Amino acid sequence: MSDVLESGMVALVGAGPGDPGLITLRGARLLEQADVVVYDYLAAPRLLAHAPNAEHLFVGKQASKHSMTQDQINALLIDKARNGHKVVRLKGGDPFVFGRGGEEAEALKQAGIRFTVVPGITAAIAGPAYAGIPVTHRDFNSSFTLITGHEKEEIYKDEEAKSRKAATGSSDLDWSAIARLPCVAFYMGVKSLPRISSKLIENGMSPDTPAATIQWGTTTKQRTCVATLGTIADAVKAARITAPAITIVGKVVTMRDTLNWFETRPLFGQTVVVTRTRDQASELSKKLEAQGANVIEAATIEVAAALDQSKLDAALRSLSGSVVVFTSANGVRATRDRMRQLKLDSRVFAGVSVAVIGDATAKAVRDLLNIEPDIIPARAVAEALADALIARGDVAGKRYVLLRAEIGRPVLVDRLKAAGAVVEDVAIYETRIAASLPEELTEALAGKRVNWITFTSSSTARNFVTLLGEAYREKLDGVRIASIGPVTTQTIRDLGLTPTVISEKADIDSLVGAVMEPQDLPDAVSRRTRNTSSSD
Ligand code: SAH
Repeated sequence: MSDVLESGMVALVGAGPGDPGLITLRGARLLEQADVVVYDYLAAPRLLAHAPNAEHLFVGKQASKHSMTQDQINALLIDKARNGHKVVRLKGGDPFVFGRGGEEAEALKQAGIRFTVVPGITAAIAGPAYAGIPVTHRDFNSSFTLITGHEKEEIYKDEEAKSRKAATGSSDLDWSAIARLPCVAFYMGVKSLPRISSKLIENGMSPDTPAATIQWGTTTKQRTCVATLGTIADAVKAARITAPAITIVGKVVTMRDTLNWFETRPLFGQTVVVTRTRDQASELSKKLEAQGANVIEAATIEVAAALDQSKLDAALRSLSGSVVVFTSANGVRATRDRMRQLKLDSRVFAGVSVAVIGDATAKAVRDLLNIEPDIIPARAVAEALADALIARGDVAGKRYVLLRAEIGRPVLVDRLKAAGAVVEDVAIYETRIAASLPEELTEALAGKRVNWITFTSSSTARNFVTLLGEAYREKLDGVRIASIGPVTTQTIRDLGLTPTVISEKADIDSLVGAVMEPQDLPDAVSRRTRNTSSSD
């Protein structure tokens, strides 16, 4: 199957149900080639990162934004294709399952526009899967039926949709037949759940049949409400579950008791803020997300190459025989970037010993420079590195080149100089405070929806507080703070805040561990209990 998206062509791509990892390879490849992406509100916004330079057009309904009618969407797709664009129409779940993808394809066909279709994982399969409910099971059912609740939710609230509703309203569902099915999933059925369940019961389905409603399935916002056919409508209302949600009715729902894997992960339901530079954040974010956390990334600093690169240029051309010290992954990256600009390669490190602070820095040295660091002190602080370097002996008269941020702590330079070393402290990058915090974060803080904030350096802590503004202590009231190490912890205390946990080692894994297993926390037990309950 060709993965090439040509000019004037439209790809109807299933975005999958919400988890951005659930798009298909073919869908992702087509997205990468798009110059226009037309997406709706069920398509995971993160998927747009596959097409960073494309025009992103939102056409779904969201409280704050305008929605388009289906005719307008069709016209937009045709117009963009006719103008020679490579268009991806990104639709939640599968494009042909209750998503009006069929109508869009029809319109393209009529207009003579070439199109291709990429199926996606549909919500009725993925939502239950992430709730620990297999949609078929040999003990319970050998058929599985997808039904639309026929309730036109926000995305379909246009005039044309209303008239269609008259034609294809609930009356066309044969409830007596549906009531005999062993397993049924209802899309778009939250508001009509009372009607759906009473129709099924009226037509002979047992009110004791297990039922579950899954909201925002496969996302960090997933919530599942388990009840019976007789009680599900009230239970969903009480749990304030709204669209988008899938309701599945059938004995397979009982499998959740044993198979509930997604919502039981240690950090599920916890919103964790990651404060780092944009470049570095992803590793911490990924690890927190793997434990189930809802991560909000807040870049507090931006990294820029130092204005004056002449010292670095001179150093890079004369490193042989020296010890090069990297204190952060940013420093390694800035060095690599400058080497590329100067068309230098790893031979500049011939005859050089490399010392680093921290596992992340060591990893950057391995990944970006292809060098195995010679010296990595056990503790990731400048003092420990100074101790390690001095313990190696042969310090007097030896040349040490520090490739680091403009504002580095003086201790390493001072200690090495005191031991008789020749030290060159080369500023290779500078950090600037970010312009502002993301709206998603300020809203979550205002709504008291943030459980944790992680600080991985003193400067991020300081900048974060500056970005929060004057009332930062009140804004952070009730939010737990995780600190990566002793220096950061001291800064947090100086800011009048109290770290809830301090990571044992100054690395990402240890920090994630600290957030997962907060010691000595009176409410740690209740937090775990809450996470393993059925969250309804
Ligand atoms: N084409 C989509 C369905 C679009 S209709 C698909 O294949 O999944 C919109 C309905 O899909 C919503 O009202 C809801 O019932 C369901 N839905 C979509 N994404 C969902 C999700 N992440 N969790 C639960 N239900 C979802």
